[in-house]
Amino acid sequence: MKNAIFLILISLFLQQCAHKKVDLTKPQQTKTMEDNTHANNPYYSRTDKTKLNVSNAEWKKILPAEVYAIAREANTEYPFTGKYNDFDEVGEYFCAVCGNHLFRSSSKFASTCGWPSFFEADKDGVIYKRDSSHGMERIEVLCKRCESHLGHVFNDGPPPTGTRYCMNSASLDFQRDKK
Ligand SMILES: [Zn+2]
Repeated sequence: MKNAIFLILISLFLQQCAHKKVDLTKPQQTKTMEDNTHANNPYYSRTDKTKLNVSNAEWKKILPAEVYAIAREANTEYPFTGKYNDFDEVGEYFCAVCGNHLFRSSSKFASTCGWPSFFEADKDGVIYKRDSSHGMERIEVLCKRCESHLGHVFNDGPPPTGTRYCMNSASLDFQRDKK
C-alpha cells in the first residue's frame, strides 16, 4: 500500500496546492481553538478507535455547517483563512468530526500554500483514496475512523519524509499539550 501511494505521489509531482474553493459565506475563524463544540456529537471520542458508519444525513444534523461542507462533502476552505494555517502551538491534532488522532504538531511545517501542512500523519489515523475529480489526479486523505475528508497529500514536502499533507483547518481539532 505504501509503495503504491509513493508511486502515485511521484505522478503528482507538478501538482501543488490545487484546490477547489468552497463558497462559504462566513470565514472559518469564528471558533476559539479549544472550545467544546462536541457536546451534541455522540460519536466524538479521542480514545475509541471503532470504525464509524454514520450517514451524511446524520452528520448534517450534528456537525457545524462549515465542518459538514468540508469534511463530509469534500469541499476546500479558502487558502489563508483556516484557523490552523498560521498556527504553531504545541499539541495534538484530531479529526473535527469524530475525534480520531491525526497529527502531532512536531510534524507541522510552515507551508506557503495557505493551508495547514504536515510532513507526517498518524499511521493509524488516516487512509488514502485516489481522487480524479476536477480534472486532476490527486490523493485524498481521509480520517481512518469516520472517513471524513481532511485534504490531499503531495510529494513536495520537506525532510524527513518529503511528503506534504495539505489539510483543511475545518476538519481538524487541536489540543494544546498540558504544561
Ligand atoms: Zn474522523
